[in-house]
Amino acid sequence: MSRIDSLPPLRQVIADHGLVARKSLGQNFLLDLNLTAKIARQAGDLTGMDVLEVGPGPGGLTRGLLAEGARKVLAIEKDRRCLPALAEIAAAWPDRLQVIEGDALEIDPLAHLTPPIAVCANLPYNVGTELLVRWLTPDAWPPFWSSLTLMFQREVAERIVAQPGSKAYGRLALLVQWRAEARIVLSLPPEAFTPPPKVSSAVVHLTALPRPRFEADAAVLERVVAMAFNQRRKMLRAALRGLHPDIEALLESAGIPPTQRAEQVPLEAFCALARAVAAAR
Ligand code: SAM
Repeated sequence: MSRIDSLPPLRQVIADHGLVARKSLGQNFLLDLNLTAKIARQAGDLTGMDVLEVGPGPGGLTRGLLAEGARKVLAIEKDRRCLPALAEIAAAWPDRLQVIEGDALEIDPLAHLTPPIAVCANLPYNVGTELLVRWLTPDAWPPFWSSLTLMFQREVAERIVAQPGSKAYGRLALLVQWRAEARIVLSLPPEAFTPPPKVSSAVVHLTALPRPRFEADAAVLERVVAMAFNQRRKMLRAALRGLHPDIEALLESAGIPPTQRAEQVPLEAFCALARAVAAAR
């Protein structure tokens, strides 16, 4: 479902409302409505879904999400200069767009949303990873969202989908892949944004698994993985020495050679190790 809206082009919106981009707010705007529609489509079928958007800015992606049929878009924006432009969009899509002014790190969106919920955002780079980690570590699983469609710096996107044996593989890949399916669905050069950032970007689409891929206690798994990658060049028997007096035996019981480095260990083996560590306590 798609409708060309009757709103002005985004360059005009920016000019009309004096939205000079601020670096401190991570403002790199997408002004091509074909591109924002394409990003919105990566979120899948939005009909019958509420969508949380963080950092709508002048509203290019917001317009895409509404045109793609989102039941409701809840947009949280820190920069109050953007609010008049967003109010124009809300007027063009009656009862479908709610805008909250504030910091997405401090606002609980759940009071304003009804499941099923998708999250779709061209995130401010300075808060993107923190929000992703929060969305992946709720108190209970499954989380409030069924999918996340998020723009990141290309390097962060690669860390999210990384596989064992690659330099990008680490805590973020394991945290994501334990509980979600993640893939890069779109790559964007710096010139796609106004102003262009220094680096390339990519959109990652994540779907929440109904339960974690392998059994493990979340806190123990996080601790094991953090220690393993804090000294990623060391063999695991050394990097994890502080975890248990007989860490070599626990590594072996999890099927991990104690001389291996964190970078080579797949998620399933980390989960087996987390179970062995929990059982040995
Ligand atoms: N979605 C717009 C687009 O695609 O053109 C703008 C994307 S821009 C990369 C990031 C947006 O997030 C900016 O509008 C910025 O003001 C907003 N922002 C920055 N920090 C924020 C925060 N902590 N909470 C909510 N919005 C924030």
